[in-house]
Amino acid sequence: MPQELCPCGSKKQTQYCCQMYLLGKKQPETAEKLMRSRYTAFTRGYVDYLIATLHPDYRQPNDHAELTTSISHTQWLGLQIIDAQKGKKNDNTGIVEFEAVYQINEPQQLHERSRFIKTEGQWFYVDGDILPGTTPKPKDLCWCRSGQKYRQCHGM
Ligand SMILES: [Zn+2]
Ligand SMILES: [Zn+2]
Repeated sequence: MPQELCPCGSKKQTQYCCQMYLLGKKQPETAEKLMRSRYTAFTRGYVDYLIATLHPDYRQPNDHAELTTSISHTQWLGLQIIDAQKGKKNDNTGIVEFEAVYQINEPQQLHERSRFIKTEGQWFYVDGDILPGTTPKPKDLCWCRSGQKYRQCHGM
């Protein structure tokens, strides 16, 4: 899959983007890169990576089964990073706000402000606050990525 663009929306080829992290060749240097790689892991079913990048204090015994089930039912349509706070130089916490669009039966929005912690040089996802989905302007493209204007799609 040489020319394939990364699902995370970086516009880079997957092999030079999230795949390096998913295959363990490199550690994400920032919370945003970890967030993007976790999104790509969801789209590709890298359950072990999702658990390995979840902060150990937040792991649950049934994570593997639950993630496997939810991934098999979900189609991911796109990711947009809304805000990423890098933190100060010696700050080991990060915040990334994103909006992902996924489809189970109907397209849905996941708008989340996520917390990350860096421990011994590795970024981990901690948890996040779910926020209401964003509303595009009537003439802008709909959030569901149908390619139609919002007012002709979910804004009707
Ligand atoms: Zn990527
Ligand atoms: Zn729509």
